[in-house]
Amino acid sequence: MGKKPQVLFATFEAVPFMKTGGLGDIAGALPQAIRDAGYDIRVMLPKFMTIPEAYKNQMVHVVDFRVNLGWRNLFCGIEKLVYKGITFYFVDNEYYFMRDKAYGYFDDGERIAFFSKAVVESLQYLPDFQCDILHCNDWHTALSPVFLREFYQGLPLYENVKTVFTVHNLKFQGQMSDYVLGDVLGLANIPAAADQLRSDRDSINFMKGALSYSDVLTTVSPTYAQEIKTPFYGENMDDIFRRRENVLYGILNGIDTQEYDPENDKYIQTNFNLEDMSGKAECKAAVQKELGLEISRNTPLVTMIGRLTEQKGMELLQRVIGEMLEHNIQIAVLGTGDKQYEDMLRYYAWKYEGRMSASITFNEPLSHRLYAGADMLLMPSLFEPCGLSQMIAMRYGTMPIVRETGGLRDSVIPYNQYTGEGTGFSFANYNAHEMMFTVFNAADIYTSQPEVWQQLMENAMHQDFSWDRAAKEYCKIYDMLHPENETESEEADE
Ligand code: ADP
Repeated sequence: MGKKPQVLFATFEAVPFMKTGGLGDIAGALPQAIRDAGYDIRVMLPKFMTIPEAYKNQMVHVVDFRVNLGWRNLFCGIEKLVYKGITFYFVDNEYYFMRDKAYGYFDDGERIAFFSKAVVESLQYLPDFQCDILHCNDWHTALSPVFLREFYQGLPLYENVKTVFTVHNLKFQGQMSDYVLGDVLGLANIPAAADQLRSDRDSINFMKGALSYSDVLTTVSPTYAQEIKTPFYGENMDDIFRRRENVLYGILNGIDTQEYDPENDKYIQTNFNLEDMSGKAECKAAVQKELGLEISRNTPLVTMIGRLTEQKGMELLQRVIGEMLEHNIQIAVLGTGDKQYEDMLRYYAWKYEGRMSASITFNEPLSHRLYAGADMLLMPSLFEPCGLSQMIAMRYGTMPIVRETGGLRDSVIPYNQYTGEGTGFSFANYNAHEMMFTVFNAADIYTSQPEVWQQLMENAMHQDFSWDRAAKEYCKIYDMLHPENETESEEADE
């Protein structure tokens, strides 16, 4: 038997140590699932000042060394903590990381370059760990594959290290003045590197480096992996994604199926499951009451939960919300975002009191009550790399109504009236009336074909959105990159 590859997962955020967005959740959950699949995966992140003391007190010093960064020669310590069976390494440098926040400093480029270099340098110092796969995430670790190839390639220990780079958020790419290229990265005199990092005459782009240098690229859904090869979705990187499409994979994220579990959810009125759905009706009545909506079992309750931005399709809602509220439906929105949309929603909640509610706040318990109590979740996104809300809704038997883009397209099977298949409803074009008629169609089925609706709820609740499914796909990529397993399968073929 060949040995399973050992993986170092480099990230700027991981729950419970640091979280500013989805990356933190993913880096907290995915390595666990990969570990459960039998891989030795360890996570590396900066030792931020804001990590809770209880964790900091448990960290033990592993090693320290110096890191060269341009003309600088910097201290780097590595500390270690085993959390839920996973080894986390923390990169210690007080000058860069003893600060209040993870990002938002004038020298973010330098801090992030330091972290990326420290990750690569550390590979030779970690006891009982021979890194086979370096898995980097987003622009904060995008320089690691570049440094690995340009500065470490010749050293025997690094020869077989393969790199995977996952794009979680294509909007943030690390665009810097090209002064950084020489002064910080020390790459100005390596023409191939300079060429690949440069985005225009005066600037360089960290993510561009990872997209060119990594052995495999992944993003967070199969459809988004296709979409980013087009100028509309590609954020000026579409040409690179087209060039590297043979190594570009889309793997749908998972959700925390323990946190979002209608059977055990502590926030909701009555727990329910596939065998006994009666609790869902109670959840609906409770949330209607809580939000000041008319308590009516037969009126379809449509919810929207998320950021109130153009990306999430608020433009479409704004266009037709008045028309929609004349129909026999209720709308409950929970979210914060652009002021124009917040005000618009408040206005309609006032105008259609009892039919529409607008909760302009971030409220996790209320989000659970809406996922559980609503009949449908509307998510008409302009673009959606993965999206979590639609998967959470399905766990609670709430039918997603989505635009066919990115992860929405990959996670929702549209209702087919001829076969009865489906886990939700979808529409193709970014068009307000197309969205509205899809909602009306769903509402009609809800009110006039309860047995069809019941079947759709069951289909949705049967879907597997656990991280285990995603982990299996990442493991396939690790195996593909790892030569030992190649040998093994060649032997097996003979
Ligand atoms: P995003 O693009 O914002 O990451 P996702 O659908 O991937 O969108 O994830 C959004 C997550 O944040 C979901 O778990 C959703 O329930 C939660 N969320 C968003 N807005 C709110 C809010 N106002 N209150 C509570 N939870 C929210």
